[in-house]
Amino acid sequence: MASPALPEFIEPDLDFIAQINSGSGLNLKKCYQCATCSVACTMSHDDQPFPRKEMIYASWGLKDRLIANPDIWLCYNCKDCSTLCPRDARPGDVLNSLRKMSIKEYSKPAAMHLLFNDTRKLPWLFILPALIIITMGFATGLMNISPGGDRIVFAHFFPVPLIEMIFIPLSLGVTLVFFLGIRRFLKDMQATYARLGKATPGSIDFKRLLITIVTQLPAIIRHERFSTCSETKGRKISHMMVAFSFTSLAFVAGAFVFALYVLNSHGPYDQINPVKILANVSGIALIAGSLLLIRERRANARQTNGYFDWYLLGLALSLGITGMLTQTLRLAEIPWAAYSMYFIHLIFAFNLVAFLPYTKLAHLVYRTVAIAYCHYVKEEK
Ligand code: SF4
Ligand code: SF4
Repeated sequence: MASPALPEFIEPDLDFIAQINSGSGLNLKKCYQCATCSVACTMSHDDQPFPRKEMIYASWGLKDRLIANPDIWLCYNCKDCSTLCPRDARPGDVLNSLRKMSIKEYSKPAAMHLLFNDTRKLPWLFILPALIIITMGFATGLMNISPGGDRIVFAHFFPVPLIEMIFIPLSLGVTLVFFLGIRRFLKDMQATYARLGKATPGSIDFKRLLITIVTQLPAIIRHERFSTCSETKGRKISHMMVAFSFTSLAFVAGAFVFALYVLNSHGPYDQINPVKILANVSGIALIAGSLLLIRERRANARQTNGYFDWYLLGLALSLGITGMLTQTLRLAEIPWAAYSMYFIHLIFAFNLVAFLPYTKLAHLVYRTVAIAYCHYVKEEK
């Protein structure tokens, strides 16, 4: 393919440079292009080297070459490059900052991201879901704040139809946000790669891309790329624990819906029920994985730890703890505490789903698509 023609004059986007510097807490000018980072990175290959070129693009303010460049998603933030950088330019943190800016670019509306840039807005991330849940509960007349009865049954307090009325439209809305974002992301990645001479200009064959996504998923789920890191190798286990928990808890929710509507089986279920066991194992894995990730992040003094990174870890831990406490309080037969904890757990669950496209969890979607797109382009050659 032809080499990309550089524009005669480069117009640096100074705001973009300032945002990266503030996001990574560093000065891009520190980088003197020695390329140690690209050599050190075990995920960077000759046909797709990074992060040296991203460092020069970033310091020149070439936003259009970075925001939709799938290469920034091939980085797993292992910090090997940052450790070896002789100038302490922290290329790993710069790429992390670029990914955050990419999510901000594609997950609309942009105003939603304001909620995640300012810690003073944190209470609203919980007050708003609480208000929506309470309003829906009272407006439909389905929420019963004094369920009574001999046993604690959460469906008597917050019936399944009410949960569906809240969470189904919410999930559909989130899916739409992702769909629109990914559609633009793919179009821009194709344009970026075509301009850099890495892809054939033209539209994407979505059927072939979808097949590539499906074939790449097992390697992504197994976190194969994590194994090649040396600096933060242990992160693979904790990362997998959290990813496993979220996936299996989604499966558990689906299994309980199936049990309710197809098998006409109502909860609460026995502790020895296989799905219940999976739910408990997932809950414990979520708490343990989140705690390990928090410990690793705190221990890595060289890492830039922003609100964006901490928020998801805090939410994952809170979800795990409130979920397990809800069950413990039910088994301990303390109704007021069990129902209250269940309500708090619902707020965290609402928060997780509603803000999925705007939090670090959106990485899962954007990274998967970017990795699959890179494979798609390679197959094309
Ligand atoms: S980021 Fe550091 S290691 Fe990479 S090119 Fe710049 S100075 Fe060299
Ligand atoms: S943080 Fe790790 S994966 Fe990312 S560029 Fe640096 S060495 Fe490569």
